[in-house]
Amino acid sequence: MEHIVYLDNNATTMVAPEVFEAMLPYFSERYGNPSSLHSFGGNVARDIEQARARVAHLIGAHPEEIVFTGCGTESDSTAIRSALDQLPDKRHIITSAVEHPAILGLCGYLQKRGYQVTYLQIDEIGQIDLDELRETITDNTAIVSIMHANNESGIVFPLHEIAEIVKEKGCLFHTDAVQSTGKLPLDMSQTPVDFLSMSGHKLHAPKGIGGLFVRRGTPYTPLLIGGHQESDKRAGTENVTAMIGFGKAAELAAADLPREGFKLQAMRDRLQDGLLTRCKDVLVNGAASPRLPNTLSVSFGYVEGESIVLLLDEQGICVSTGSACSSGSLDISHVVKCLGVPSTHAHGTIRFSLSRYTTDDEIDYALEHMERIIDRLRALSPFGRE
Ligand code: PLP
Repeated sequence: MEHIVYLDNNATTMVAPEVFEAMLPYFSERYGNPSSLHSFGGNVARDIEQARARVAHLIGAHPEEIVFTGCGTESDSTAIRSALDQLPDKRHIITSAVEHPAILGLCGYLQKRGYQVTYLQIDEIGQIDLDELRETITDNTAIVSIMHANNESGIVFPLHEIAEIVKEKGCLFHTDAVQSTGKLPLDMSQTPVDFLSMSGHKLHAPKGIGGLFVRRGTPYTPLLIGGHQESDKRAGTENVTAMIGFGKAAELAAADLPREGFKLQAMRDRLQDGLLTRCKDVLVNGAASPRLPNTLSVSFGYVEGESIVLLLDEQGICVSTGSACSSGSLDISHVVKCLGVPSTHAHGTIRFSLSRYTTDDEIDYALEHMERIIDRLRALSPFGRE
């Protein structure tokens, strides 16, 4: 296979070799059902508990506070639907306008069923107004769901402050931490979050495994009801191999945090500075806010993001125009819209997202091709000519 320069790690990541290795026995000799009474199955149940403990350790939680799910989307849905089921008299949800479709799609669906949803807007640096959040919570609010880090811009919201405000108001709080888990330190023993969503494939575990932190004592209704798996919190025979993989990935991430973050940030900043120097008319989105160390969202004036992605693809470089879910459509993503990127630049928005496997040579290669591609596209654009 030709060499791929993969700079789209917020869409999904490579399964780490150590994770792959750890999973292999569960495809072959360790195929027991963890619910079985015999030790062949029981040993697998024990291994799942080790994986759970590793995921818990990554976010400063207790193992029994971790529910394995099928993906980040399922974790998000479980948290919100659980709150609504537990608090049937409360018909109001608060979220932000820049959430992932996993939250926005569900909220839209719930609005059609009579729920009221408040979408907090972001300001010019990409942050929500914490006073507005405080004022918006009422006795009718069932749950506040605000993401930790944005998948498109990388902008990080002040999780601790948000959680404290919501808890002060006596409301349930969920955070979608799918993009921050394993990239930023998280400590549930210090941050008053009730629910936190994670997804394995964003941190070098396979696709199809998610995690939901549910704080001890939080009222909870499972999304899937049936057998007694996951301590009655999620029925269905376990995706054992993926759980083991997620556990291993969590262990690897915990071992390297925050060192890996510093390394990624230095590399990301070199990419950012290189683009600013080599290509004119570039805006860095979210530069005035804290950002995920691996993420760079840039908007190039007078070019189409889709053309950039396709020309980079010809060179074996993978990037994204926005979230993976909105690619394929020529609309400006909701996040770019909310960020207020000027119309001259909004269509030229590209997201680069790095991982522990990204090398300096790959950054150089991407910079070289970006400069050529932007020059070429601008030469063709009626707006780009000087
Ligand atoms: N939330 C955020 C912030 C994401 O970036 C994603 C995936 O891109 C999801 C939720 C959905 O996760 P999954 O793909 O595991 O369903």
